Amino acid sequence: MSADIVSTTPGVPADESPLTARHQTGPMFAATHPLALAPVAAPPHSVDGFVREFLRELNTGQGVALARSTVNDQYLALARTVRHYLMARWLETAKHQRASKAKTVGYLSAEYLLGRQLGNALLATDLNDIVDNAMTSCGLDLPTLRAQEVEPGLGNGGLGRLAACFIDSLATMSVPCIGYGIRYEYGIFKQTFVDGRQVEQPDTWLALGSPWEFPHPEAAVQVDFGGYTETYDDAGVTRSRWVPSWNVLGVPYNYMVPGYQNGRVNTLRLWSAQATKAFDLAIFNSGDYSEAVRAQTFAENITKVLYPEDSTPQGKELRLQQQYFFVACSIRDFIEQILEDGFDLHNLPERIIFQLNDTHPVIAVPELMRILVDEKKFEWAEAWQITNQCFAYTCHTLLPEALEVWPDELLGRLLPRHLEIIYRINDEFLAEVRQHYGNDELRVRAMSIVADFPERHVRMAHLATVAATKVNGVAELHSQLLRDKLLPAFSEYWPDKFTNVTNGVTPRRFVRLANPSLSALITDTLGPGWVTDLDRLSELEQYAEDEDFRKAFREVKLANKTRLYDLLRARDDINLENHHLLDVMVKRLHEYKRQTLKVLHIVSLYEQIISGAVDPETVTPRTVIFGAKAAPGYRIAKEIIYLINSVAEVVNADPVVAGRINLAFPANYNVTLAEKLIPAAELSEQISLAGMEASGTGNMKFALNGALTIGTDDGANVEIRKLVGDAHFFGFGMTEPEVTELQTAGYRATEYYESVPLLKRAIDLIASGAFSGGNRGTFEPIVSSLLYEDRFMALADFQSYLDAQAKVEAAYADVEGWTKSSILNVARSGFFSSDRSMRDYLSRIWRAGAV
Ligand SMILES: *Cc1c(COP(=O)(O)O)cnc(C)c1O
Repeated sequence: MSADIVSTTPGVPADESPLTARHQTGPMFAATHPLALAPVAAPPHSVDGFVREFLRELNTGQGVALARSTVNDQYLALARTVRHYLMARWLETAKHQRASKAKTVGYLSAEYLLGRQLGNALLATDLNDIVDNAMTSCGLDLPTLRAQEVEPGLGNGGLGRLAACFIDSLATMSVPCIGYGIRYEYGIFKQTFVDGRQVEQPDTWLALGSPWEFPHPEAAVQVDFGGYTETYDDAGVTRSRWVPSWNVLGVPYNYMVPGYQNGRVNTLRLWSAQATKAFDLAIFNSGDYSEAVRAQTFAENITKVLYPEDSTPQGKELRLQQQYFFVACSIRDFIEQILEDGFDLHNLPERIIFQLNDTHPVIAVPELMRILVDEKKFEWAEAWQITNQCFAYTCHTLLPEALEVWPDELLGRLLPRHLEIIYRINDEFLAEVRQHYGNDELRVRAMSIVADFPERHVRMAHLATVAATKVNGVAELHSQLLRDKLLPAFSEYWPDKFTNVTNGVTPRRFVRLANPSLSALITDTLGPGWVTDLDRLSELEQYAEDEDFRKAFREVKLANKTRLYDLLRARDDINLENHHLLDVMVKRLHEYKRQTLKVLHIVSLYEQIISGAVDPETVTPRTVIFGAKAAPGYRIAKEIIYLINSVAEVVNADPVVAGRINLAFPANYNVTLAEKLIPAAELSEQISLAGMEASGTGNMKFALNGALTIGTDDGANVEIRKLVGDAHFFGFGMTEPEVTELQTAGYRATEYYESVPLLKRAIDLIASGAFSGGNRGTFEPIVSSLLYEDRFMALADFQSYLDAQAKVEAAYADVEGWTKSSILNVARSGFFSSDRSMRDYLSRIWRAGAV
């Protein structure tokens, strides 16, 4: 390993920045400059060497002596020291990829939910033990320093975390990829609870320093907005051009994306908006300070904050500005910085595939057309053919109302040329459709990119589908429903355009880093190599029958529970008991995910005990942990959070259920907390209404860490269930066709309320004020939503859910049987590695590979 670090150290000039092809770094410079042949200094690969590097960073980088340094100083110095070890690999990777001229994946995503970087960098460089010892010899504690890092929360939930898993896998598989996104100054809000209610605090993730980013203000890109379009005569050809009225600068910030111990480091390039003109000195001197910086404030607002929405569209002008801003920067960056000088753009599809992570980056399609047609003077048809091969689109939803649309008026005002281009794309596409189907105007209207009701607007999913070479859903069921229900006219017209790639999660972060005890057990049992070849987990299958292995496996789970409870005690003053069944539901708060169904289960258990229907001694001791943020504007979701906290307060304080049911809701669920919660969990709650969860990735993380799933036939649950087997999965609830049938027949929640006695009693207990100090009105909005307007039909699945929970309790009572199932969940979940997802994208969509 140490040889690896030295030998891959390239003779790269020290001032060459990664991904920047046109700096002063030609062969002449490399050959003539006295320093050019010296390798980038690779720090010594030993404990003493590391200590020296670290102290130098602390003293000369951070400017403090060890004795006077804060934990933050130490963390920053450590991060920068570790970063040095990746630097040479980063430069070398960029150089290698430029030289190879291989096809690059341009992953366009408005969100990256990265999680902490230090642990992952230590894993990628295999430096953990050295650094641990080095810190100890300095009298410091590595876990404390790791805990100092504030995770970059530049995403809402599953979609952003997926992007982070994918770029990790591509780096590990040596596939050229640039992740493009937005450097939000404030990421997803920090959640706190005040008297049980969610209160949002700004996420100041940059406040204490951000050692993982490399700003490149010299490589800033200009992005235009507004204005009008005009035509002009270009040597006898009439052309269009955009005359914008304002602009901002996009400053790139590079982040390292290290592969797992493979000497590769890819790049995540996030854009930050800045004013083209910082402030007006004349106005400033005249004393009007706020007017003087108005342009600056205006520009910087574009990347100020992440929209805290998840799976609902937000018709906000600033959001469209964000979207255009980052894709305009990214496309320009790829064409002008990554491609070599004089590259013939006719061959662009050989060098790039832009993957559109949902509709957020779809405005990239008319942007590429604009560049090719207006700036590079391509024929329209030629430009369209190129553009068609350069984009692929991933759809992440099934809710029709979650498909993003933009008012024609707004697009015309902000991006007038793009709107014209969209109209022309639409006109030509609809002409094709008319020709193919003989003027079937109903079909034409269904497929049109532009729709007229209730106001004229552009459907971004239609634009993406028309433009993309491939359209994929994110789990088998989702892809089928995408074809059959969401975009049926398109899948009929282009059956081959549609495909599936089931999501995955990176085993580096979610097994190896998050669960070191399990990882050690797996490595002891199977040897190394499984971290990059997760199908090898299937070799664990035979050990499910091995009593010693089962015992070791149980000890791992217990250790993880203890680790979690220690954390929650310190972090949230929550006290939990080890021997309970640990039942976990963590994900964004959304009605479709049905946290209320879980609450009804707990309330029902509680009600049965306090009413005397059930002897508490016969109840399986159970600790339920929730984690969930609600979008700040999502009223009912915030009420549900308040309900969970209120139920927790009453249940946890009631001596009648003491030691039997415990409910905890640690605030601010994020990647860092997920890494502690998931390895400890025994039961994974995946209880969305069938047909609503596109895939889920939380479900995969749990299965890989040995939790058994209680879940509906939804998203990737279907595939988990099929792979781990019905005997090791607690399925319940309506199937998607049954849901559709009930919707058609008409769902009447009150019928379930009246006919299922336990359900009525649970709802009545909530409505009685038992969890709201006797106040009957407090949870009325939730109760009435469940009874009268619940599109997600929670009550219809209640009985089935309770039956499945009874099976859980029976199974948990059989310790050896439960352990076997748990081991088999791990052994049979290798499919859910994001490495496999990447192989599927590479072969089905991208037609690219490792170099
Ligand atoms: C994996 C993950 C998610 C997605 O969870 P789902 O249950 O699939 O919705 C959301 N947030 C965080 C922090 C995650 O790690």
